[in-house]
Amino acid sequence: MDLTLSDEQQLLVENVRELMQRESWEAYFAECDKNHQYPQRWVKALCDLGFDLIMLPEEHGGLNLGLVTLTAVYEELGRWGAPTYVLYQLPCFDTILREGTPEQVDKVLAYVGTGQQIWNSACTEPGAGSDVGSLQTTYTRRDGKIYLNGHKTFITSSMHVPYLVIMARNADQPDQFTEFFVDMSLPGITKEPLDKLGLRMDSCSDIYLTDVELEEKDVFGTEGNGFRRGIADFDFERFLVAACDYGTALCAFEDAARYANQRVQFGKPIGRFQLNQLKFAEMAIRIDSMRNMLFETAWHYDTDGMTSASAAMCKYHCAKASFAVVDDAMQVMGGVAVAGDHRIQRIWRDLRVDRISGGTDEMMILTLAKGVLRQYQS
Ligand SMILES: Cc1cc2nc3c(=O)[nH]c(=O)nc-3n(C[C@H](O)[C@H](O)[C@H](O)COP(=O)(O)OP(=O)(O)OC[C@H]3O[C@@H](n4cnc5c(N)ncnc54)[C@H](O)[C@@H]3O)c2cc1C
Repeated sequence: MDLTLSDEQQLLVENVRELMQRESWEAYFAECDKNHQYPQRWVKALCDLGFDLIMLPEEHGGLNLGLVTLTAVYEELGRWGAPTYVLYQLPCFDTILREGTPEQVDKVLAYVGTGQQIWNSACTEPGAGSDVGSLQTTYTRRDGKIYLNGHKTFITSSMHVPYLVIMARNADQPDQFTEFFVDMSLPGITKEPLDKLGLRMDSCSDIYLTDVELEEKDVFGTEGNGFRRGIADFDFERFLVAACDYGTALCAFEDAARYANQRVQFGKPIGRFQLNQLKFAEMAIRIDSMRNMLFETAWHYDTDGMTSASAAMCKYHCAKASFAVVDDAMQVMGGVAVAGDHRIQRIWRDLRVDRISGGTDEMMILTLAKGVLRQYQS
């Protein structure tokens, strides 16, 4: 496995670094975080560098540079404290190109380069979290139309995206799950924003669907295949969450290391105290193991595919390890970490959410363990 970046990959990473050094983005991120506002200006600047082209195939004007490249870019952005979690829609064109009708593909690709929020998928409901299969939202056919009714919750970006892919069950055949590509401006859709501990630069809301009228052309993918389609794309999403977590933890680690070298107590830099050194040793191990795991998995994705078990391993390990890193970093930084306006507070809040959103730690364990044991079945 050779993970050396090509000149083209290296150039992209350097351009991203230059963008992050060009201005003090931290003040902008802090303001967006405080106001629960999507950092449109920053995302647009990234798209101007080709960020949303990284995974897009060349026939659609993309760069097709693969997941190793994307991981390297996430690493660079993360270490500068960037909210990479808001970027998850931009490398995910694979889903729309695979499942979408030509009309749906055109609608989504029209946003390439704009930095605007495009779409997301909505499975979760108040009674269906980890157990997605128990969802109650229904679709019914009547007079040549399709009607959606139900209540989705915790749906990321849903206050502002123009489209949502919504999973529902057939009211007349309840074991049939189908997804619909829904224009969010349709009558019958109500949104209620939810406040969140972290990841505040992206919205999250309850979505109420009351007789939302759709056409046959709005079916997303194959009727009856909604559940399998949704589950299949979880793997890529889980990897992206893990990559965000690693980069963000790297930022906290480096902030804490710089601080420990210059903060003096009892006549010495606090980094010279062994209790703090233990934290830096453990943080370094976690940073290193996250990095190795992610780049290895990305290499497999680009070369021979990513398994559900490896995606779950990345998500489980990186969500936990990154939170352990930021928690240690916070401890090392003492009062300035918890009072005042240091970015580590934002990072701590953001990373805690990821042990739940995108699939909980516990569900990752189940998926990972199943994949591991399967390898040893006779
Ligand atoms: C910020 C945020 C953004 C989100 N964005 C989206 C989105 O865009 N689209 C979307 O569809 N969903 C989204 N979700 C929903 C997310 O996927 C669910 O919150 C998650 O799957 C867990 O569901 P739940 O919160 O209902 O917890 P529950 O499923 O009720 O679980 C509660 C606890 O029980 C544990 N548990 C449940 N079942 C088992 C089991 N079999 N074995 C062991 N432990 C178990 C869980 O791990 C957890 O610790 C988002 C959630 C959050 C918090």
